[in-house]
Amino acid sequence: MVVHELRASAKLIQELDEIARVAYPEEGCAVLIGHAKRDATGLDTVLPARNVAPVNRRRRFTIDPQVLLAAQKAARRRENGVIVFFHSHPDHPAEPSRSDRSAAWPGALHLIASVTDRGVVDLAAYVLDASGRFRQLALAVADRSETRGIA
Ligand SMILES: [Zn+2]
Repeated sequence: MVVHELRASAKLIQELDEIARVAYPEEGCAVLIGHAKRDATGLDTVLPARNVAPVNRRRRFTIDPQVLLAAQKAARRRENGVIVFFHSHPDHPAEPSRSDRSAAWPGALHLIASVTDRGVVDLAAYVLDASGRFRQLALAVADRSETRGIA
């Protein structure tokens, strides 16, 4: 199945902004739960997770495995449930880094925020395709009828 777009409410995006701001200057992370439809994935739940990377948390993130497990269980209980990974890049663009490429698995959905000391400045959605490349997805924020990060 090809996912073309991630959809979220402005409130959910605010929750992600908050996670990125609070974690700054380290990378913040979370797991989102959504439901896949034919041409889009709707996001509805944010599970904030501690960044438990043992070193260099300004450039690396490891999602608390307990939160990841809880998210996977919750997604399985739902019809067409999926999980989406969120993390922030302090003072760096909202683009996948080399370590993001090595840590991701094909088909996984990612949201990456660029955050500075003034807050989140960009947010972009990606899917890792079968050839190991990140492809940018459209991100539609529902209650503002705006679309961010169109590829
Ligand atoms: Zn990253």
